Amino acid sequence: MRILLASGNKDKLKEFSQLMPRGVEVLSLVDFPGHPALIEDGQSFAENALKKARTMCEYTGLLTIADDSGLEVDYLDGAPGIYSARFAGEPKSDRRNNKKLLQLLAGVPWEKRTARFVCALAIVDPGGEEHVVLGTCEGYILEEPRGTGGFGYDPLFYYPPFKKSFAELDTEQKNQVSHRSRAFAKGSAVLKSILANRS
Ligand code: IMP
Repeated sequence: MRILLASGNKDKLKEFSQLMPRGVEVLSLVDFPGHPALIEDGQSFAENALKKARTMCEYTGLLTIADDSGLEVDYLDGAPGIYSARFAGEPKSDRRNNKKLLQLLAGVPWEKRTARFVCALAIVDPGGEEHVVLGTCEGYILEEPRGTGGFGYDPLFYYPPFKKSFAELDTEQKNQVSHRSRAFAKGSAVLKSILANRS
């Protein structure tokens, strides 16, 4: 059977496909070039993910999964949150986002630099069934970037269990613990039960 991951990101597609049972083909936005615009104007990661999944489920008639993710910093009352991608404005820039984050946290002591990555995953079935699951990963915001891997806020996100920033991990290590892989694992469990009930 075919399902849709409402993302054009190859890495997300690969990571999610690996969690699917045999016989499930995971399509992506690349397979629907004329798809409607997916607008992220909700007030939470969950709302944004659900909106994208509903739009694409209606458009394709396929069971659809969509994600939305970002960074929440406690000292900034949860910012950048749903605005993570464009925290420093247009055009979207990881470098300027990180610079802005460091400026806002200048002088803030280590124990107050707590933060988490959050990923919401929405699953929408053409029959009307809807689920949202969340994955999180807790850490601290460093005082300067460390590492060269990853993307986004990875160089500033310190993960205590590994004593490394996310940008110092390889993909496999990051996938063991990331907010996205935790959400994908929960989502794949929900999906498997939906699929089992169908057959
Ligand atoms: P998206 O919803 O996956 O497109 O993520 C939105 C934004 O959140 C990205 O542009 C990044 O700024 C940030 N973000 C999400 N996940 C990660 C991650 O794993 N590492 C670093 N930044 C991330």
